[in-house]
Amino acid sequence: MSGKILGIHHITAIAGEARRNLHFYTHVLGLRLLKKTVNFDDPKTYHFYYGNGVGTPGTILTFFPWGRIVTGRRGTQMATEIGYSVPEGSLEFWLDRFQQYNVTYNKPSEKFGEPYLTFLDPDGLKQELIVSGSSDARSAWETAEIKASAAIKGFHLVSLTLQEVKATAEILTEVFGYKLAGRHVNRYRFKTDAVEGAAIVDLVEVPNEMRGHLAGGSIHHVAFRVKDQAELMEYREKILARGLHITEQIDRNYFYSLYFREPGGVLFEIATDVPGFTTDEPLDELGTHLKLPPQYEDRREELEQVLPQLD
Ligand code: ZN
Repeated sequence: MSGKILGIHHITAIAGEARRNLHFYTHVLGLRLLKKTVNFDDPKTYHFYYGNGVGTPGTILTFFPWGRIVTGRRGTQMATEIGYSVPEGSLEFWLDRFQQYNVTYNKPSEKFGEPYLTFLDPDGLKQELIVSGSSDARSAWETAEIKASAAIKGFHLVSLTLQEVKATAEILTEVFGYKLAGRHVNRYRFKTDAVEGAAIVDLVEVPNEMRGHLAGGSIHHVAFRVKDQAELMEYREKILARGLHITEQIDRNYFYSLYFREPGGVLFEIATDVPGFTTDEPLDELGTHLKLPPQYEDRREELEQVLPQLD
């Protein structure tokens, strides 16, 4: 008998210019760059991983910065909002900071009793800083300008926009172990009790909305978390048993993965905790070297020339 899904593992999105993405996430938001590698399917594009100090699953946001690209459009069949957990009383700090850095934001509001602040990243990716209604003991990465009193602790939730929530809700509840935790108008909140952070998935039902267009500022996929490869393969069987197509296990260097499109059209991944980000760099050097998977190591010189300059 396998365990439940342990919340969100990581979320992967598409960005435009690499340097602008790096500055926004490490400097403006204060996340740690955990890994600077390449897209394994397109090694002339970077793959950046951001998260907390030690790269705990549930804190990891990753980007493929594609350079000059059009802006995507939020719509159905995609994940459309990322919610981070921030400490109580920190929204004032973030409002000041967003003004200082000309970040587009809305005035704070409240959802399910939790205060939040919506903002857009430089590519238009919609995100929220949320003061969680439950305690969040995760320790955040601190920077010179962002201390623990305000720093982002990791994901609180992800929102998916769907024409109809039913079939997606069944995957969350019958396969992943989530439970319906609340509903507000067309927003259905699902939560797992298997972890404390990154435990919420909101399904937003918008029957007449157009299908989203995946491009800059869009979320490419949401990865859910399992402990190890044995559990990963148990989930593979469960997804197959529901008549859905799912990939073979793929080695992503820092975790093992499976991908499947859930019935609502959103690309889901299931990813393991192991081996983690220290598999090819020591903890205190995470993100400081260009790390290439073995199949591209002999092209290092060429790739270092064609990848965008980051300084
Ligand atoms: Zn992924």
